[in-house]
Amino acid sequence: MIYEGKSKSVFKTEEDGIVNIFFKNDITAFNGEKHDVVKDKGLMNCYMSAFFMRMFTENNIPNHFLEMVDDQTQRCVSVDIIPVEVVVRNIAAGSFCKRFGIEKGTRIKTQRRSSVYREPGINGDTPLVEFFFKSDEHGDPPMSKEHAIMFGMATSEELEHMRYVALQVNNVLINYWSKLDIDLVDFKIEFGRTKTGTVILADEMTPDACRLWKTGTQESMDKDVYRFGPGVDALAESYKALYDQIKSVEKA
Ligand code: C5P
Repeated sequence: MIYEGKSKSVFKTEEDGIVNIFFKNDITAFNGEKHDVVKDKGLMNCYMSAFFMRMFTENNIPNHFLEMVDDQTQRCVSVDIIPVEVVVRNIAAGSFCKRFGIEKGTRIKTQRRSSVYREPGINGDTPLVEFFFKSDEHGDPPMSKEHAIMFGMATSEELEHMRYVALQVNNVLINYWSKLDIDLVDFKIEFGRTKTGTVILADEMTPDACRLWKTGTQESMDKDVYRFGPGVDALAESYKALYDQIKSVEKA
């Protein structure tokens, strides 16, 4: 094992530049204060993340995913994770409401930046992109692009690229979830550097790292069910519903 995270473990393989990522059944919230084990969570998240990473590849968004090894393990390109969490927000929720006193459910729109060539947006608007310092020790504080540059985490160009990819990911995901009558509220993605220095999308795309509401409601189907809601059993049910929906659409 090279690295053990809260919900995934990374193992080295015989092949240079390739790792196996194992999705655990563990779920944690509030920086590890809350911890439980959910039956089949690893399998479901592994499947959903692989499904979305393949979709990103089809949409010309380079990412770490290569193939499934088994139900709970993926073969991926080895990267050095950049300690910058990129969050895209379409609707106000979570820490954003807390920090700015904005009502939960408020639509978030910022001006599309005309200086950036064909910046991905929705009907001429752009959602909010935020950067956070990935550090359990410091509670993942929000930071600006300038902070990330100053701390030597990434270059200005890399951060612009990450922002652009985050907006592309948002468009792909909104397009997918809206067909299932689900609102994509927000999500978090991470990037990594390959050994040749290319920055690609890494980590995961699962309901652990995004907010999904049944369209037009504020009914959560994601990790908030565990964070604030009824608990582990309800979470398992909710993830199963998303997993089944993805599987049935994929088959159709
Ligand atoms: O807590 P906050 O509102 O900033 O979270 C924004 C989005 O990023 C949510 O979808 C949340 O699940 C995700 N997130 C995450 N990992 C973190 C922080 C936030 O997946 N460490």
